[in-house]
Amino acid sequence: MTPERLFHELLGLGLNWEVIESRFERENGTVCLAIRETDRLWESVRCPADGSRVSCYDHTEALTWRHLNVFEHRCEITCRLPRGKCPQCGHVFRVRPPWEGLSTHFTKEFEAFALLLMREMPVSKVAEVVGETDTRLWRMLFRQVDAAYAEADFSQVCCVGVDEMSVRKGHEYVSVFADLLRKRALFATEGKDHTVWLDFVAALEKHNGHRHALTQVSMDMSPAYQKGVQETCRNAQVVFDKFHVIRHANQAVDEVRRAEVRLGGPGVWEALRRSQWLWRKNPEHLTDQEQARLAKIQQKNLRTAKAYQMRLVLQDIYRSPAVATARRRFRIWCRWVRWVARQQPQNLLRAMVKVAEMIEHHLAGILAHWKWGVTNAFMEGLNSVFSATKRKARGYRSTTHLITMLYFVAGKLRLPQC
Ligand SMILES: [Zn+2]
Repeated sequence: MTPERLFHELLGLGLNWEVIESRFERENGTVCLAIRETDRLWESVRCPADGSRVSCYDHTEALTWRHLNVFEHRCEITCRLPRGKCPQCGHVFRVRPPWEGLSTHFTKEFEAFALLLMREMPVSKVAEVVGETDTRLWRMLFRQVDAAYAEADFSQVCCVGVDEMSVRKGHEYVSVFADLLRKRALFATEGKDHTVWLDFVAALEKHNGHRHALTQVSMDMSPAYQKGVQETCRNAQVVFDKFHVIRHANQAVDEVRRAEVRLGGPGVWEALRRSQWLWRKNPEHLTDQEQARLAKIQQKNLRTAKAYQMRLVLQDIYRSPAVATARRRFRIWCRWVRWVARQQPQNLLRAMVKVAEMIEHHLAGILAHWKWGVTNAFMEGLNSVFSATKRKARGYRSTTHLITMLYFVAGKLRLPQC
């Protein structure tokens, strides 16, 4: 068997194409395979406009596709692609070879392999590993994701979660919509005002979903999102899920800490210095060292420790099995927070009182958690998925790059596998 014949078999070229030359270029360590069409090709090529049989018109310049390595050596396929001409309509077109991927520089197999690597590491790292530029890899990813996303089916979507994710710290945001039952990212777009809902509903309906099929929408207590839901999906019940409520409480604890550092008396700054991560954790997740530190801080009777305790109690309400118990405990919690805050000088617990007001104001949606609780777990995970997305898109923080990466990582799209 000649090397050409061997590569022909390995590439699975069939009867329409043949390897006419194979050589190893020692200087750049590249295996080059030259391919050309056989006469048999014209038996199967049809005019894309009217389906007529066509004949060969001419050939393109030599084109190159990166293929999977041969052993550890880079492998490239070159071919002067034939162009067909239709005798009926005169249409001239390039014949698409069976190995070509969605991008013009890579074969299908190479794209599948690069996608596999991209699941595991940042694009810039993949570029380094396979010896390609990251621009080319991104372009490939855009095409793959766009093609797979266009095929995505949203017809079964009924429970949706939405959350804002920051693209750059404190600046730009994207709103991410997720299918809570199938646990996948559905749609993401720039901004966090109510109009993102119009964009989402348009995308939903483009993929066979329907706005009035939405029965549950899980989200933060942002007035913008609430307005968006009211304007677009009349059948959806709004649920303010546990994760968002606790997030507000966490932020409030942090505000209390900062206010106390600013206004507190002697010794406060030393006690609270670099402690913000401590307060975000639950006691069961603290290391021994952190526990010791917390115990020491708590001896000082600080407002921050009080606020932390409030957060823990609030969290515990979510362990209530019945909605009636939860309702009662939320009310008691709000009264307790107000009562404690009134005893404090300088109104240091103001941030916690705001959380109490927010809870009273949104109690119905918060209590809906007890009806829909199970489905909401995905929203919490979405934040870490988004962080992973940012890591993978390292160095390319445009919204388009991030959204494409998000669909790739969390969209459960049908992408080629190798
Ligand atoms: Zn034609």
